[in-house]
Amino acid sequence: MSYQKLAVATVAALCLQLTACNNNDTAHSHAHDKAHWSYEGETGPSHWGTLSEEYALCGTGEQQSPINITESVTADLPPLEFNYSPIPVVIENNGHTIKMTASGTLKIADDEYQLLQFHTHSPSEAAINGKQADMVIHLVHKNAQDQLAVVAVLLEVGETANPLIQTLWDVMPKTVTEPQQHETQIDINQLLPEDKNYYTFEGSLTTPPCSEGVRWMVLKQPVSISAEQLAQYQSVYPKNVRPLQPLNGRKVSSSN
Ligand SMILES: [Zn+2]
Repeated sequence: MSYQKLAVATVAALCLQLTACNNNDTAHSHAHDKAHWSYEGETGPSHWGTLSEEYALCGTGEQQSPINITESVTADLPPLEFNYSPIPVVIENNGHTIKMTASGTLKIADDEYQLLQFHTHSPSEAAINGKQADMVIHLVHKNAQDQLAVVAVLLEVGETANPLIQTLWDVMPKTVTEPQQHETQIDINQLLPEDKNYYTFEGSLTTPPCSEGVRWMVLKQPVSISAEQLAQYQSVYPKNVRPLQPLNGRKVSSSN
């Protein structure tokens, strides 16, 4: 039990650093008093900017995510060097998403980022030529200068189920919970497509407080999940996406 408490404390600390985790619905929410937000109704995305002063950027920001990727410029971009080792499952339903606390590193040229957590949306938030994938995994990383880099892995219903997704869904909390630590180990590499070519652009967190200065990488090749896996997720979160945001002149680069 003490390990679980430790995990909770760690995740709470991450949330404070990231200020991305709104845990208003969870038992440990009182530690950080954030305004409640949701994906529909009076606390839905079109109201986020006015729910709290801290969320103002959700309404006034000029570099907001997600975006619809229609045009991109091919550039000589550095490869994404993932260095993820097996880690125990720490899974949480925070009232907005299913979130896994995680570790590992991502190197992009000379920039090194630490993986903090990954979480899920359905459908995918970003769109490519107006089309959203069935789901997306956001792998959230931070470097020593506290700059965030998010890698988006698109998931599409296809011929094969994903083994890592199955491991996670088997223990997925259906209702809001604190982080739950399991003995099962996971290998996040199983979530990555073989082809690591990507789109990249400047954007924001896609949840309040919508902080900008986030380096986004959307992997082009989707990963296959089964129809059952999508249905299992959607029975908990049928639609947890922020609507597409205007580009406002931002350029999208492509690695190939
Ligand atoms: Zn996300």
